[in-house]
Amino acid sequence: MSSPEHHTGGCHCGGVRYVAHGALRPILICHCHDCMKIIGTSIAATSAPMANVEITGDSLKWYQSSDIAERGFCDICGASLFYKPLYHQHISITAGTLDDASVLTCGGQIFAHDHPGFMPIPDDVPHIDEKYKAFKNKT
Ligand SMILES: [Zn+2]
Ligand SMILES: [Zn+2]
Repeated sequence: MSSPEHHTGGCHCGGVRYVAHGALRPILICHCHDCMKIIGTSIAATSAPMANVEITGDSLKWYQSSDIAERGFCDICGASLFYKPLYHQHISITAGTLDDASVLTCGGQIFAHDHPGFMPIPDDVPHIDEKYKAFKNKT
């Protein structure tokens, strides 16, 4: 069971488990090229300070997906769980790997212009590319 102060999750095979203590950020949807290639579609992820997240499981592997970030995945079931920017101390957690993601709301989307167009882009989710860029440049 998850509560606002304590969120659990893991990959499909159960090889990787995590606990996030404290509040999670609203979901951010990313439509960028890297997410397409790694997830196979747009990613929906929450985020938490790295210090608040405990991860267990030997099957967790890290792949450096760009010069600014690594992605954490399970090398047994292939689940993509984490996105860890090298430039600050937060970790993104793919929303569907939470045991109870129903407590989260969707806060925004980025890189919609990069989406190849094979599915609709949600109309009711704000585009926050500018805010995201400003946030990145600050760090
Ligand atoms: Zn797994
Ligand atoms: Zn992306």
